[in-house]
Amino acid sequence: MKLDWTTILCLVYNALIAALGAQVAIHSECWWIFPISGLLMLRPKLQYTHYQICDSCGAEGPKALSRPEALSAAELAGWKRVPVTRDGKRIWHDYCPECQMLTSSKEEE
Ligand SMILES: [Zn+2]
Repeated sequence: MKLDWTTILCLVYNALIAALGAQVAIHSECWWIFPISGLLMLRPKLQYTHYQICDSCGAEGPKALSRPEALSAAELAGWKRVPVTRDGKRIWHDYCPECQMLTSSKEEE
């Protein structure tokens, strides 16, 4: 997993809170401050920022932590990748399950 800035800041903040809590607990002889400082810590939020976008309707696919994960999650959810050649370049088009049904019914007509 790649660490992004929010996660790093979160870890730095947690370390500061822990150090501060320990200092206060040692100097004030209030040992219960230390566990309380643990409650002030932040849990790094995992960012699900990668997802496929349907090239037909713009629907968003299942969110994942990385691009390969998003691709496999979309595949599991029934999404389809179709290679399209445009101006001599091969690009990929993604279609959500609903749009696949629409395009296949169009082909039949
Ligand atoms: Zn779609």
